[in-house]
Amino acid sequence: MKKSDSRQPERESSGAESASTHRPIVAVYPGSFDPVTLGHEDIVRRTLRFCDRLVVGVAETATQPKGSLFPVAERLEMMREVFGGESRVECVSFSGLLVDFARDENARFIIRGLRAVSDFDYEFQMAQMNRELWDEVETIFLTPEVHYSFLSATLVREVAALGGDVSTFVSPLVLERLQQRSS
Ligand code: ADP
Repeated sequence: MKKSDSRQPERESSGAESASTHRPIVAVYPGSFDPVTLGHEDIVRRTLRFCDRLVVGVAETATQPKGSLFPVAERLEMMREVFGGESRVECVSFSGLLVDFARDENARFIIRGLRAVSDFDYEFQMAQMNRELWDEVETIFLTPEVHYSFLSATLVREVAALGGDVSTFVSPLVLERLQQRSS
């Protein structure tokens, strides 16, 4: 007779893949990253706890009218410097639908950061729409360390343009570029 332990539910035979058939977990993390902030870095770090490969994608076509500061090529340069030490992270740009980008990268997961309640409405709609477009993709929301929960690239741009100190919100190399821009 098969022994069963009531404290440990039997493992499902489908669903979770066994170690021998483990397929790399690939995710995409899309955004404008204009510029990349410590909030973004925090989300990337958290994602790497469960992901084998993370493709950070700069959207070439902005979906929200935020007004850009750095051209896409320069945003990518900064991101590659920031994440350069992490071989599991790749930074690229993409245009068109996010689900097509995810599919092209063999990613089944879309990572998004959730800050305050104000992010929720838009993020929820986007996740549901992306599921409509491609049912095999799952959106995963991560929250940042509390210190970064009010931080946005838009705020960083605005504060830096007015000469404010943003050194606790971006890495030193991004700070240098921001200072060059506003001098
Ligand atoms: P933003 O200009 O608001 O920083 P991005 O388009 O660059 O926006 O953001 C890309 C993704 O990163 C979004 O899911 C956004 O919610 C998330 N994100 C941005 N900043 C933070 C932060 N400080 N903490 C957590 N998630 C963040």
